[in-house]
Amino acid sequence: MKLKYGEAEEAFRAELDAWLEANYPPESARHPEPRSSADLVPWVRQWQRTLFDAGWLVPGWPPELGGRNATPVQQMIYFEELSGRHITRSANPQGLGIIAPSIRDYGTPEQQEQFLLPTLRAEISWCLGMSEPNAGSDLAGLQTRAVLEGDEFVVNGQKIWTSGAHHADWCLCFVRTDPNVPKHKGISALIIDTTSPGVERRPFPDLLDRERTDFNEVFFTDVRVPRANLLGELHQGWPLTQGSLAHERSMLWIDYAYSMDRIVDTMRGLADHVATDGTRLGADVHFRDAIANAHVDAEALRCIGYRGFSKFSHGRAAPEHSLLKLFGSESIQRAILSVVDLLGPDALELGGDTLFHHGERPWGQQYLYSFAGTIPGGTSEIQRNIIAERVLGLPRR
Ligand SMILES: Cc1cc2nc3c(=O)[nH]c(=O)nc-3n(C[C@H](O)[C@H](O)[C@H](O)COP(=O)(O)OP(=O)(O)OC[C@H]3O[C@@H](n4cnc5c(N)ncnc54)[C@H](O)[C@@H]3O)c2cc1C
Repeated sequence: MKLKYGEAEEAFRAELDAWLEANYPPESARHPEPRSSADLVPWVRQWQRTLFDAGWLVPGWPPELGGRNATPVQQMIYFEELSGRHITRSANPQGLGIIAPSIRDYGTPEQQEQFLLPTLRAEISWCLGMSEPNAGSDLAGLQTRAVLEGDEFVVNGQKIWTSGAHHADWCLCFVRTDPNVPKHKGISALIIDTTSPGVERRPFPDLLDRERTDFNEVFFTDVRVPRANLLGELHQGWPLTQGSLAHERSMLWIDYAYSMDRIVDTMRGLADHVATDGTRLGADVHFRDAIANAHVDAEALRCIGYRGFSKFSHGRAAPEHSLLKLFGSESIQRAILSVVDLLGPDALELGGDTLFHHGERPWGQQYLYSFAGTIPGGTSEIQRNIIAERVLGLPRR
C-alpha cells in the first residue's frame, strides 16, 4: 500500500527522489561499516554533511539548521522515500535523532552554538547515558549522582548499555541532582566530555558481532563538568528523557513497515529452497502461513500508522502511536523467527538484506538483531503496560 498525496506533496516527493538519485552514493553499502553507533567513518560524515547542505537532513527544521520547513505530510513522504530505499541518514542515531532535538528545544544559545550545528554536520558524535545496572525500564530510579560545587558538577556513578560511548565525543548523561525529592523530580541532564578525567568507557561485545562493538559500561569517578553544560533547568531533566522528537519519532514505524516488506520479499525468494527433510519450502503450509502472516502484519502496520498520522495532523489525539513500536518491532521479530524455525541450521548460512544497511546477514543473526527493536526505548512489556493504562484505561497493578 502506498498512499498518494496532493500535487504539492507529490512534487516534493519528486524533488527528493531526483536528488537522492543524483546524490546517494550507491557504493555506500560496500564502504566500511561504522564500528559503533557513534563511529563517524569518513563516507558517513560526508553523506550526512551532503544531506545537511542540501536541506535534506532534517527537512522539518528551518533552513539554517539543515532543513526546509517541511510540513508533517512532507516529512512523512521523506521517511517513506528513505526507508523504501533503505537509506540511513547518520551513523549516530542518538546524536541526530534524540540529542540534537533536545539541544534545539532546551539548550542555551551558547550550547546551541557549540553543539547543534557540529552535530548536524557530523563533526561530533554522541552517546546517551540513561540506563544503569539498576535503572533500565525504571529509568527514574537512576543513581548516578551529580553534586554542584561552585561552577562545576562533580559526577559519580555508572551507566550501562551506552551505545557507541567509546567512539562518542560527548555524552548526554542523566544524573540525580536532588536525592531528597520524589525520584522523577531530582534528575538533571548534563553534557559530558567523554575525554574528561574520571570517565572510563569499557566497550563489551554483543551477541551478534564480536568485531563491531557497540555497547559500553561507562564509569564516572569525580568527573568535573562545567555548570554551563547543564541542559535544561536544574532538577528538571525528566521531560528530556521523554524525548523531544515527538514528530519524527511518531514516524519511525515507517521504517518498520519497509523492513517488513523486505522480509516478505526475502521470504518469497526462499520458496525454492529445499529444507533438510527434502521438502521445498514453497510447498510447506507453515512457510506459506508465515509469508501470509508477515504480509498481513506489514499492511496492518501501515493502516494503523497512517490512521494515527491522519488524526495527529488534524490535531486529534492518536492512541495509535502507542501501538506502533510494539506492533512493528514484534511483527519483525515474529516474521524472522518463523523463517529461522523453518530453515533450521540453514538459518546460520542463508540470509538477506532486510534489517541491516550493510549487505546480507544470515537469518539467525537477523533474529538476534531484532531485539534491538523490542528492548530499547521501552521494552515490549513496558509498551503493553502503557497501552493498558493510558490507552485502555485499565487500573495500575
Ligand atoms: C540495542 C540496544 C541499544 C541500547 N542503547 C542504549 C543507549 O545508548 N543508552 C542507554 O542509556 N541505554 C541503552 N539501551 C538500554 C535500554 O534502554 C534498556 O535495556 C531498556 O530500557 C531495558 O532496561 P534493562 O535492560 O535494565 O531491563 P529491565 O528494566 O531490568 O527489565 C528486565 C525485564 O523485565 C521486564 N520489566 C521491567 N519492568 C517491568 C514492568 N514494570 N512490567 C512488566 N515487565 C517489566 C522488562 O520488559 C524486561 O523483559 C540499549 C538497549 C539495547 C537492546
